[in-house]
Amino acid sequence: MDALQVVVTGASRGIGRAIALRYAHAGWKVWALARSEEALRSLAAEAPEGAVQPMAFDASVPSQVESVAQRLAQEATQLRALVNNAGVASSAPLAKTTLAETERMFAVNVTAPYLLCRELIPKMVQNQGGRVVNIASTAALKGFKYTSIYCASKHALLGLTRALAVEFASKSVTVNAVCPGWTDTDMLKASASHISKATGRSEDEARQTLAKMNPMGRLIKADEVAELVWFLTTSPAAAPITGAAYSIDGGEAVA
Ligand code: NAP
Repeated sequence: MDALQVVVTGASRGIGRAIALRYAHAGWKVWALARSEEALRSLAAEAPEGAVQPMAFDASVPSQVESVAQRLAQEATQLRALVNNAGVASSAPLAKTTLAETERMFAVNVTAPYLLCRELIPKMVQNQGGRVVNIASTAALKGFKYTSIYCASKHALLGLTRALAVEFASKSVTVNAVCPGWTDTDMLKASASHISKATGRSEDEARQTLAKMNPMGRLIKADEVAELVWFLTTSPAAAPITGAAYSIDGGEAVA
């Protein structure tokens, strides 16, 4: 029997890379999407031979996302899961936000997941079922200072998740959101560096400040997020779970 297939965006680094490897080591075929072809090749080299199929795309360009998604709808014959993980974040007080950055953030964080869902969910319906996970954030659940556009984009992604969950509930396709708190990846490094420049504190102190936002006093690990995505997309116990927003944040969202 052919291996089950999953599409993972933002698979070149961080959370997406951990997710891609989780599936690859479990015998799935992974369509791994991101901009950096070199990083995707290195991911494929680390995975079991032939398990990862790299596919370069720029999620900020809707026409590129559309054509990649249409190609996947043709080629990913055994598609069972889609993980919309690619995301961009930046922070600024409202007065310093720009329309260009807002459009970029919405293109990557909202429009790309929408286009991939539009082209690939019908394939899962055709395959008698599938599971979609959108990687949102605690910023999909509450507001944070100086991150209005990121929060708006992640709230929009959660809205898309909930509406599609209802639309496809009777067609054996589940759609859930995973909402990490601060996770130890390049995105966190960039935020710590930004805080350090803005406040004069060291990057290590900035990192500690971010870790303390988690009531457990630590950063989330990319592998921990990958394990939750694995559960939601493969466990028989997750079959009735749809439209949910799973926090993985040490209690930050409810503190
Ligand atoms: P990361 O380390 O910065 O990695 C981001 C991934 O997205 C990379 O694989 C990157 O690949 C890809 N990506 C970015 N822009 C892209 C574009 N225009 N086109 C295609 N791919 C693009 O971030 P991460 O921390 O792993 O974050 C993954 C997801 O988790 C994001 O949706 C993020 O919002 C969410 N999240 C992260 C945290 C955190 O603290 N780290 C917390 C909550 C939620 P290329 O650069 O190769 O394109």
